[in-house]
Amino acid sequence: MKARYKYRIYPNHIQIIKLNQLFGCCRYVWNSALAHCNQLYTNGHKRPGYVDLTKQFITQAKKELFWLKEVASTPLQQSLKDLDKAYKNFFNSCAGKRFGIKVKPPKFKSRKSRQAARFVGANYQVGQDKIYLPKVGKIKIVLSRPLASKPSSVTIIKDSAGRYFASFVVETCAEHLPKTENSIGIDLGISTFATLSNGEKFEAPKPLKKNLNKLGKFQRKFAKTELGSKRREKARVRVAKLHAKVKDIRTDFLHKLSTDLAINYDTIVLEDLNVSGMVKNRKLAKAISDLGWRQFRTLTEAKCEKYGREFRTISRWEPTSQKCSNCGFKGGKKELNVREWTCLNCGTFHDRDINAAVNILEAVQPKNKVEIVKGTVAKNPVQLSLFNEVAEGQRSIIYWTRRKRQTEKPADSNDVSTRPESFLQLSLFD
Ligand SMILES: [Zn+2]
Repeated sequence: MKARYKYRIYPNHIQIIKLNQLFGCCRYVWNSALAHCNQLYTNGHKRPGYVDLTKQFITQAKKELFWLKEVASTPLQQSLKDLDKAYKNFFNSCAGKRFGIKVKPPKFKSRKSRQAARFVGANYQVGQDKIYLPKVGKIKIVLSRPLASKPSSVTIIKDSAGRYFASFVVETCAEHLPKTENSIGIDLGISTFATLSNGEKFEAPKPLKKNLNKLGKFQRKFAKTELGSKRREKARVRVAKLHAKVKDIRTDFLHKLSTDLAINYDTIVLEDLNVSGMVKNRKLAKAISDLGWRQFRTLTEAKCEKYGREFRTISRWEPTSQKCSNCGFKGGKKELNVREWTCLNCGTFHDRDINAAVNILEAVQPKNKVEIVKGTVAKNPVQLSLFNEVAEGQRSIIYWTRRKRQTEKPADSNDVSTRPESFLQLSLFD
């Protein structure tokens, strides 16, 4: 099982210049190779493979461009490998050979967005508090946790807020935790982030909502600055830093919750939500994106694999919020503002989210329903009740039911409930 271990690194001023040079060269190789492939495509030629691209854009280019020789060559090769992979993914997706959402063709890389360069093989080294990169030097690294095994690659990342990271790919083995004999269904929502089928509720931190005013202020200031000025760059970094903070708060919450769930439950059941479709609703897009449902699913799935747990999803078309989890009666669609309801059939009072979570769990692990009213009221759920005083302090409700005569003769032939089209009299005490 492969896992990513990401650490913050702190390059000094000279190392920052060298890293920027490296990112620039990777970008140059990618962009020029991409432009070449696009040109060939418009002329009706076939796309060259990785080996041809390396010859032309690394070996040949180094003879003309001296600055390409000033950086390590592995990251340059890796960026051409990435381009090759991006094309393959795109063509496979077009041919329907690839599962999942449609892949778009590779795009040109910009100097202004996130930068990355990948080192593979033995040309980098990790020490106690330093990481050595060829032609850059020893950079300070904070190993917040030990690496599980020897990494197969390291990606140096500079995010748009100006922070540097080293992201290692390491081979880890799954640690199978002892069984807890507990299974859980989870309903994801906007007002409450996650509701578990045992009734537990988790509120999301909603970091974007809390920082929306501040973000708007920063963005307005950024929009007023002059193009290409130092102030503009300063304002851009301020916006990017706030975005990074928002993302960190969200990711931290999702990591903690998913780990907690994977440790405590053997089977975790989630609804297969169409998040990218839901985000198209402009009124809900910001609120849904702020929660990170998709990331939660990815993290939970990965952690279930890590701890040897079972991860299941149910179809998004399953009527989880329409069905009564007690008797299985479908009460029809409910508006989003209906948070609590009573089943017309069995009279159980439901919290909308908990009921849905129980249904999500039961879609995978069905248990025997309590058959209370099958064949009687279930067919005619809108039966009226008549109130009439029977005795002091006692009220009786009369239901009119269309119950068929039972084949076996009841012991008491006066038993009203077995008579055809009879009145069922129930007594209630006030
Ligand atoms: Zn019910």
